Amino acid sequence: MVRSSGIGQEELRRSNLSAVLTHVHVNGPTTRAVLTTQLGLNRSTIGGLTGHLERLGLVTEEPSEGTNRRSGRPSHEVRPRAAVNVLAVVLDVDRIEAALVGLGGRVLDRRVREHPRGAKRVGDVVDTVGQMAQELVGPSPVVRPWGVGVSVPGAVRRSDGLVRFAPNLGWRDAPFATLLSERLGMSVATGNDADLGVLAEHLRGVAVGIDDVAYISGGVGVGGGFVVGGQPMRGFEGYAGEIGHLVVDTKGERCRCGSIGCWETKVGEQRLLAAAGWSTGGGPAAVDEVIAAADRGESRASESLQSTATWTGVGLRMVANVFNPEMVVLGGVTARIWEARQSLVLEGLLRGTLIAPMNHLQIEVAGLGHDSCLVGAAELAFAPLLADPVTMMTAYRKDDDLASSPAGPMGLSPAAPGS
Ligand SMILES: [Zn+2]
Repeated sequence: MVRSSGIGQEELRRSNLSAVLTHVHVNGPTTRAVLTTQLGLNRSTIGGLTGHLERLGLVTEEPSEGTNRRSGRPSHEVRPRAAVNVLAVVLDVDRIEAALVGLGGRVLDRRVREHPRGAKRVGDVVDTVGQMAQELVGPSPVVRPWGVGVSVPGAVRRSDGLVRFAPNLGWRDAPFATLLSERLGMSVATGNDADLGVLAEHLRGVAVGIDDVAYISGGVGVGGGFVVGGQPMRGFEGYAGEIGHLVVDTKGERCRCGSIGCWETKVGEQRLLAAAGWSTGGGPAAVDEVIAAADRGESRASESLQSTATWTGVGLRMVANVFNPEMVVLGGVTARIWEARQSLVLEGLLRGTLIAPMNHLQIEVAGLGHDSCLVGAAELAFAPLLADPVTMMTAYRKDDDLASSPAGPMGLSPAAPGS
């Protein structure tokens, strides 16, 4: 946090409000005494800041059971107000999931719509998400969602959320965020699924407190998200981390991206299922069947799993050598492969040169399980509010005045005061 005398009082206060709100959002209910210690501010400053956040409707304060060690007086407990919520959406190859997530990170309610695999019209997906949002929020919500965050299985341009390439959905240069924003009457933030996965695991999952993290999640494609030195790695336009399209076998099969022998053609779900003799549309359930068949000693399933596990290790070696992560977090099918054939993955990993010592590399399964991308999408939506609570809440309340008219955001009524 910046608190130098070089910035104005107003800016300083906004920065401190952001720090306090972010702390309770990430760490949960906290006493003023703990905030005083953690943020290095004095007691009266913290009291002023938490009071301001309470007036903005973002936190509640109650006297806690414990007492302040120095003053002997009861310390107030500051809680994130879960009624302040965002709409988090995950677009996936065979389903759409939408949830309301409260400040503090709890999933309040969720809906899932399955859809057949294959190319989809952008407008149809926008309509489905719009319907799911209406269903979740209801005709007269107590508190209108603050923002919307969407996880997309593809490359997303950082500046405007344009979906550059999402082969699972059959999209190229799809203005999904713009269209959904028009449909909902709210701003929509969009991110690549693996980028949001690593964000969530770093903030609330298995990689909390670890500053160099690689998140690798396989399904039909293979995605990579990276935290480097504590910061998300995005690249110039937001397209960094397309690890699934690194070429690992120039004599291999053609990939959906047009190249030959990309890593995802070796370790993706399709490859595992096809090589085992299964139909390729079965999803994670079929992957589990192949693993079970391999465990029973069925040779085709066993060979397919063996090859997938070894190539998974080969790819992880590239990841380790390029990014030197302290932890690799695995999601989706890649996590299943790791759980089923750890020794083969390690064999592939250690077959070539690993620059950093292996004992400095932790490999873990995603701590948030299937929810990594959903939690990450919620964090993406909350980010502007956490960065500047005063400006953002002022804008939000202005929108509520507009929402009183039938054409307001999502056609929703304004937040009830004090609710
Ligand atoms: Zn490719």
